Amino acid sequence: MTTTETTPIEAWTRRVEDLVLDLDLSAVRAWKDAQPGRKAIGFLPTYVPRELIHAAGMLPVGVLGAGEELEIVRGDACFQSYICHLPRSVMELGLSGRLDVLDGMLFPSTCDVIRNLSGLWQLEFPDKFVRYVDVPQNFDPEVGGKFYERLLRELLGELCALSGKSPEEVDLAASVRIYNTNRARVSELYALRAEEPWRVPASEAYLALRAGMQLPPEEHTALLEEYLELARAAERPMQDNARVVIAGAFCEQPPLPLIRTLERAGCDLVDDDFMLVSRWLGPDVPETGDPLKALVDAYLAFGGEASCKYVPDGEDKGARLIASVREKHAEGVIFAAPSFCDPALLDRPMLQEALDEAGIAYTSFKYSENTGQLQPIREQAGTFADTIKLWGDQ
Ligand code: SF4
Repeated sequence: MTTTETTPIEAWTRRVEDLVLDLDLSAVRAWKDAQPGRKAIGFLPTYVPRELIHAAGMLPVGVLGAGEELEIVRGDACFQSYICHLPRSVMELGLSGRLDVLDGMLFPSTCDVIRNLSGLWQLEFPDKFVRYVDVPQNFDPEVGGKFYERLLRELLGELCALSGKSPEEVDLAASVRIYNTNRARVSELYALRAEEPWRVPASEAYLALRAGMQLPPEEHTALLEEYLELARAAERPMQDNARVVIAGAFCEQPPLPLIRTLERAGCDLVDDDFMLVSRWLGPDVPETGDPLKALVDAYLAFGGEASCKYVPDGEDKGARLIASVREKHAEGVIFAAPSFCDPALLDRPMLQEALDEAGIAYTSFKYSENTGQLQPIREQAGTFADTIKLWGDQ
């Protein structure tokens, strides 16, 4: 192969990048067009039980904002200036008709901004199905568990009413199995990244994950398997980069060039909190018994930590982050949070304190999904990586 020929993994990357950056959601439109009557349901970060949407026969579609691709005109008019960028671009996408393909939207209880966005959405799109999806903050099965089970049963009933399926004919157990398989492949991707990061650049892993926000889970699983095979076979030299964990990017997404900038600055991103919906429950939701109850129990049992998830008194804030650093043999943490993101920025001092106590190096910066000035971030991340490599073990 000459140096100008496109390698299979480069071809994969271009194809998936086109899919991921397509603000018109052509893949979703194609899925709906393939069978009359199909419906798609959008959801915002951080977590919704996609299994319910899938079981009701509809396509779950992650709505993560417009990145750097869209000029915000009408979206800005809906919000004050001192909040994050995501709600503006989501509103712009909606008002410009790009989200017309979605038959409904779920707004999870991530933060007040998303709660307010759900109210605005109802006003702007009164004919669309809109639900605010709460999650338990009490992890006692008799309290939070009962609450969440009732909520999920109601939501499943409403989704079925929208899709025209009767809840009795829904095969939720099959959807749980399909998403378990998908989560297992996502875990495999993260494991390979941690073991041999030079094989899985962060930007490619990001694209692989983000494609799942538009594709049916079965197709996304196949796409992940294709990538894993290509990544294992690709001839890529081992690099002496700094191994870092990214924290704080669980909602508004950094632009892809920012992720590439971190790579070029000498950072191997061995873990992150991008698109947590893909990993929220761990790979295994029990596949026996009542599948809806299994989803509830898996939610209650999920030990992962995110700024939008309540950490009960007595549990250590930052324990998951430190565990991730240890498990992935990371050498430091980069706090990368969207500007004005209350959950991420309010958590940061507590997480930094935990890292200080554990003797783990960190640095931090803020971004927005349309950040264009990447040179300062490159210099900061490059300096951090160099510092780790030069003095990390001393
Ligand atoms: S980026 Fe932060 S503040 Fe903005 S919607 Fe997401 S969680 Fe809320």
